[in-house]
Amino acid sequence: MTLRPTVRALATATALVALGAVTACAADGTGADPQRVDVAAAFYPLQFVAERIGGDAVRVTNLTKPGTEPHDLELTPRQVGEVNQAELIVYLKGFQPAVDEAVDQNGGDRAFDVAGVQPLLAASAGGHDHEGEEAGHEGEDAGHAEEEGARDPHLWLDPTRLATVGDRLAERLGRADPDRAADYTARAGALRAELERLDAEFAAGLRTCQRREIVVSHTAFGYLTERYQLDQVGITGLAPDNEPSPQRLAEVAREAREHRATTIFFETLVSPKVAETIAREVGAKTAVLDPLEGLSAGHDGDYLSVMRTNLATLRTALSCS
Ligand SMILES: [Zn+2]
Ligand SMILES: [Zn+2]
Repeated sequence: MTLRPTVRALATATALVALGAVTACAADGTGADPQRVDVAAAFYPLQFVAERIGGDAVRVTNLTKPGTEPHDLELTPRQVGEVNQAELIVYLKGFQPAVDEAVDQNGGDRAFDVAGVQPLLAASAGGHDHEGEEAGHEGEDAGHAEEEGARDPHLWLDPTRLATVGDRLAERLGRADPDRAADYTARAGALRAELERLDAEFAAGLRTCQRREIVVSHTAFGYLTERYQLDQVGITGLAPDNEPSPQRLAEVAREAREHRATTIFFETLVSPKVAETIAREVGAKTAVLDPLEGLSAGHDGDYLSVMRTNLATLRTALSCS
């Protein structure tokens, strides 16, 4: 026998065991919480969707604690244990290397990758170029310098995409826990209606604005800018932890002046220092535009309320009527 069929047979056997385990736990009272499906969500927006779709039939653990920036999450041994014991792992492949690694090692078919729900945008989509100028005038630290073929993971900032994630997650939970499949489907429908209402508010609220460029601390807003015809100038690239070079800061300041930006946006989970420096230099204000990568500790809002705050902030900054 060659190695290949053996590996495949083993993988199939593991998958069947895992699938059986989910059903057994949900229905027969084994697992950490016998009454509920244990879900490990990789970071806040996925926790939000899992809780909304699962309702009281699930117990959701967020692997990224409130107040923590999720891109560079490290998992403690205890959290690796949570991933290993979860009946369903909801994550976004390519966003958090530590979670990807834990899933690769032990996820089996318990993992639900939201990046696989719809094709992701290219990393440079929603970026910023001027017509009639050479592409890439923003410089090498910006989105343009991202790896060739890189994908933008921040899909939750388009509410309609998050609704589709909810639909697929409901199907997945329904397969794991068939007795409650109809409940999951119904909750996904209710969440979709709320997210579509939010989407309509954004579309209407950002339809007529004096400016459409937003200067943000990292290029997290590609899905939002694509959906609502805005244009983002990121101080750093797809991850917030890259230190911008002096040249990049000068370029962003030039962009901010050129587009008469009144506001330089910063994030709740990342230091505002760089945004403040640029704002001072160009005589703009700073304000929070929250990429919803996590809630700050003690925050009592949710995805919907933070997005509505973002909309109000954008309407003020861009002078929308
Ligand atoms: Zn990000
Ligand atoms: Zn520009």
